[in-house]
Amino acid sequence: MKVKFILPALMEAKSPFWRPIKYSLFPPLGLATLAAYCSPEDELDLQDEHVEELNTDDQPDLVIIQVYITNAFRAYALADHYRKKGCYVCLGGLHASSLPEEAIPHADTIFIGPGEDTFPQFLIDFRNGRAKKMYLNAKREIETIPPIRRDLIKHHLYFVPNSIVVSRGCPHHCDFCYKDAFFEGGKSFYTQRVDAALAEIDRLPGRHLYFLDGHLLGNYKFSSALFEGMKGMNRVFQGASTVDAILRGDLIEKAAEAGLRSIFIGFETLNPKNLAQSNKKQNLGKDYNEAIKRLHSLGIMINGSFVFGLDDDDKDVFKYTVDWAVSQGITTSTFHILTPYPSTRLYQQMEADGRILHRDWDKYDTRQVVYQTKGLSAAELKQGYDWAYNSFYSWQNIAKASVQHDSVKHMLKHFAYAGGWKKFEPAWNFLIKTQGLNKTLPVLEAILSKVRGKDKREPLQPFPAIG
Ligand code: SF4
Repeated sequence: MKVKFILPALMEAKSPFWRPIKYSLFPPLGLATLAAYCSPEDELDLQDEHVEELNTDDQPDLVIIQVYITNAFRAYALADHYRKKGCYVCLGGLHASSLPEEAIPHADTIFIGPGEDTFPQFLIDFRNGRAKKMYLNAKREIETIPPIRRDLIKHHLYFVPNSIVVSRGCPHHCDFCYKDAFFEGGKSFYTQRVDAALAEIDRLPGRHLYFLDGHLLGNYKFSSALFEGMKGMNRVFQGASTVDAILRGDLIEKAAEAGLRSIFIGFETLNPKNLAQSNKKQNLGKDYNEAIKRLHSLGIMINGSFVFGLDDDDKDVFKYTVDWAVSQGITTSTFHILTPYPSTRLYQQMEADGRILHRDWDKYDTRQVVYQTKGLSAAELKQGYDWAYNSFYSWQNIAKASVQHDSVKHMLKHFAYAGGWKKFEPAWNFLIKTQGLNKTLPVLEAILSKVRGKDKREPLQPFPAIG
């Protein structure tokens, strides 16, 4: 049987001339995971439109398409194309799970929730000619998943081919996050077996790893055994966590010992009222400064994530947030305009309040205002968001944030990482076009080499939270 797996390009990633590096970072691990359930006799093809032109002239027996919100219309068009040719088409992923009634007319089968339980059952049914219209995941178990079919990934087209996921979901419940909608009806946070995760790591070449887990420090027992097992593997890695997990216990020290060199943290807002409104309890009342101090003392760089447009924001929020991030020595920042994704509690509340402006999913890319704002106008929000990016990544602020560290090595690493990420887009574009991205990995590994240091910031003068 010929099976084709497709990740259509996100709307914001599309341009024939310009490919931002962030869309060539990670291969589609979810699809490669599903591919592992196919039989060895099946002929498999995995295409990722972010890094290659799709070939749609083929005639597979089965087409599996992963749907996110800003590729939804493209995914539906591809699904319609293949169905017209007589292929059997399945849709799954965050958006198809959030809005099954929208996806169903474009698919022969849709998968709701994570695919590890539903896809194997679907394959059995499909081969027996009795596939169902919809498969709902309820089991939630990844302890026995087969090794990911990484052989289907075109490694040379990605900056970080060694991405890995060892858990599913997250233990928290933020109102704006897709997570609860995706995992509705069952467990919403579960992990692989530690030995299986270590075996997967062992199969990956080179030193660098990027854990794509929503919360790598979310389960103390699992993470602590994982980091213990990773000691001596000579890895450097990046991942995501929350402020409270960094402040609690000794897990972050164990992670640093195992090779954690950079971490993504959802600070989201410096305003407690906004945190409460978003049900971001894990950040409420937590000392951001102390968490940052701890990370810097372990030589871990920080990618801070911030959301603008929460109801308690006013026009001062942009400068306030950027000044804080720079003063704290945050290495890179990701800013977002608040976006109510369908089926989240935020969306339901905004819909009930009549605040959803339209359902043009292509524009739900966290760079555009798609809801009725409060506190500041849509134009102020968009301008402030653009200003925040430009200001944070000005050379002046990159330099200012870099010198918050006490060791010269940490300063240089910070400067190289932040500058390299945002200031060399034409060079990244060239490497993407010439398929040379993967050759730069040793540079990233060097930047992520070990550094320890005290924190130069004034720890006793925390930046006051607004609101
Ligand atoms: S902590 Fe992050 S992944 Fe977890 S629910 Fe909140 S936004 Fe989602």
